[in-house]
Amino acid sequence: MKTGFTPISLDEYVKLHLKNNPGTSQAAEVTEVLEDTLRAYKQGARCNCGNPIWVIGSAFSGFDGCFTCITGEAYPEDDYEIDEACI
Ligand SMILES: [Zn+2]
Repeated sequence: MKTGFTPISLDEYVKLHLKNNPGTSQAAEVTEVLEDTLRAYKQGARCNCGNPIWVIGSAFSGFDGCFTCITGEAYPEDDYEIDEACI
């Protein structure tokens, strides 16, 4: 169970990502990288520190890490996580 994140469906996040990053990537690529990372999460992927990975952050930062290790912040505030990875 992860707390503090705003849950979002994968499809909705892809739309949001494309809106926030216009012209940088295609929906299919963004979907694929998120699906790959979500699959790793469901298989029990963990950050180096032992926490479950943050799927959205890991998908776009290039390494599988938890929120704190990726951002350097203690807790998510207005940060999204794929809904399937919030439970
Ligand atoms: Zn970590």
